[in-house]
Amino acid sequence: MLPSKPKGPASCAKRKDGPLTVNKSGDSKKKAKLNLITELINLLKARSIPVHTPGDPEYERSVANPNLMYRFSRPHLVVQPERYTQVQYLVREANRLGIHITIKNGGHSYAGSSTTDQGVLLDLLKLNKVLLDVETKTMTLGGGALWGSAYKALIDGRNDGYVVNGGRCPNVGVSGFILGGGLGPFTRTLGMGCDSLKQATIVLADGKKITVKDSDEPTSRKGMLFWALCGAGGGNFGVVVEIKLGVSKLQNPQGVIVAGRYTWNPTAEDKNDFLSTMVRFYTHNWPDRMTIDSTWVCDLRLPEGRDVGVRFLVYFDGNEHEYRKQISKGVIHKGLAEQLKRRSLPEKSTRFLHETLVSQWYEETRQSFPKTRQWSLFTSFAFLNDEETIKSVTAIIQSEMDDFKQQFKGERAMATFTFIHSGGQATTKPDWATAFRWRQTAYQAYIQILWEDKWLERDMRGFHQRFRKRVKPFSISGHAGYINFPDRSLKPDVHEKVYYGKNRQKLQLIKKICDPDNYFSWPLGVRLPEQTASSSGGRVDGTDEREQLANAFLAAEEEEGSSASDSESVDEEGQTDDIAGQQWESGAGNPSDDWLGKNGFPSSLWGPLDNRGQ
Ligand SMILES: Cc1cc2nc3c(=O)[nH]c(=O)nc-3n(C[C@H](O)[C@H](O)[C@H](O)COP(=O)(O)OP(=O)(O)OC[C@H]3O[C@@H](n4cnc5c(N)ncnc54)[C@H](O)[C@@H]3O)c2cc1C
Repeated sequence: MLPSKPKGPASCAKRKDGPLTVNKSGDSKKKAKLNLITELINLLKARSIPVHTPGDPEYERSVANPNLMYRFSRPHLVVQPERYTQVQYLVREANRLGIHITIKNGGHSYAGSSTTDQGVLLDLLKLNKVLLDVETKTMTLGGGALWGSAYKALIDGRNDGYVVNGGRCPNVGVSGFILGGGLGPFTRTLGMGCDSLKQATIVLADGKKITVKDSDEPTSRKGMLFWALCGAGGGNFGVVVEIKLGVSKLQNPQGVIVAGRYTWNPTAEDKNDFLSTMVRFYTHNWPDRMTIDSTWVCDLRLPEGRDVGVRFLVYFDGNEHEYRKQISKGVIHKGLAEQLKRRSLPEKSTRFLHETLVSQWYEETRQSFPKTRQWSLFTSFAFLNDEETIKSVTAIIQSEMDDFKQQFKGERAMATFTFIHSGGQATTKPDWATAFRWRQTAYQAYIQILWEDKWLERDMRGFHQRFRKRVKPFSISGHAGYINFPDRSLKPDVHEKVYYGKNRQKLQLIKKICDPDNYFSWPLGVRLPEQTASSSGGRVDGTDEREQLANAFLAAEEEEGSSASDSESVDEEGQTDDIAGQQWESGAGNPSDDWLGKNGFPSSLWGPLDNRGQ
């Protein structure tokens, strides 16, 4: 059962002394906190719940993160439950002791959302069961399962023609992806990943476990929580220990996917056609069965003279003949069109899931291994594909990439701008149908900047901030972004608007009902109504919840047309070394001496891939 009546703000008092960090108020406070940690560790050990502390290989493996921004994020302990009841026990006891929990599934959050330097890191990796039910066309997955395991279930049974609406990268977590909305290679034919969600089992802050379904009455408490999990579920309402997803049939009866990859490095003769080709490509009305992602890459580590290239990844639900026809229509540059045809192959969907998807996303997957240590910044946008938007955005990207080349010449650094092809069936539901808000998006896009020299952080932040500031006005409503591609430099009172638009007030009310003490909190999390200036007062007293929810929608509607101002994000250069500095100060565990990546703590999960190209 969900809590019947939400508690008021006073009920937050239990944790008013804040997170379990070392602070200046003295050793006695620190000691008291460490005693609580010790008490929790003893309780968990007494119940044989796997718990790891700094120095344990499993602890080090779990906290290792490829993004050196989070190199000192070392929680007091890592817990890896093997059963749902162990999650319930952990949540109940940690909450009682006032110890914070951070949830980790695949650990791929670009903004370190599953890293922490305080309390417990709840690593779900052992809850990784996957059960495919061919009869009912559903797949049941533990909260710690990765997409690679989900695909394996289809591959093992040679279920050709069937796909689960999952992520591009096999080691992204299933629950982390779905709870953020989930934009897969088949979103354009199947909708968002969360549109395939049938049910979710979640452990709430009081340790109780409930199951919510797509068939729950939408205005019931369970129905509202289900709605919230479809796009805003990551880290906000509780620990999702199990989800059930629909398995879908491809549209073409042969069960074939045409897939490929080509990087276009325009030659001097191509210079004049380059932008017009890209504008036509992005504004073209592609059929839903075609998905083409594209990444603009400026990699300063490559030999001198290499210009900005664009990497295209294609996925087509259909046969080769139809594919070629579509490419001829949407790509005006003859040489590029020819290569996109030559570098694509039709293949059974199981082979695609087993091999091709992995190869297409090789660079990105490799960058996400804990062993790959580099600094990285990240921000996202949501674009429509009208000509004005696309012309403006592509011109900005080109000029910023030129600047990057000049400014950081000789450095080991890379700037990328990725357009993830969205739209299609994702747009058929209204924007309020799920917590995931930006359904009209044609391209979910992101900037990613990577570098290897620690002392470049200030300059990279400056570059990142300018780049984002130029592009952001072209995002839907002038501010839209995507929580699965998060940005840590957003101001605390802006992130909900960026990720959830006018759905945010309903989310805050659901938060108030499901997690009234805000136990599950994190920097980009959904807040309680009373924490926001624009709230409707946060009164969820049970008198008329439905009316309050309706009012929440109306109140937010007025703001929808407004653009975010320049002050949407903090002064990024001023944030240089902030994250590492704070984490070092809190010093929850002994900082690892492996931040240069000597060992990298590779896990068996990413063993075979991780050795490629080494
Ligand atoms: C190489 C690569 C490719 C990607 N491709 C895509 C793509 O195609 N489409 C797309 O939409 N995204 C994509 N992403 C982004 C990815 O979907 C998000 O980063 C996602 O949140 C990662 O989930 P995770 O479980 O791996 O990450 P984590 O960092 O473990 O979790 C992400 C967030 O979800 C929370 N969370 C995780 N599991 C649970 C749970 N069981 N219960 C409650 N909260 C939970 C965490 O606390 C954290 O806030 C990609 C990322 C990478 C690195």
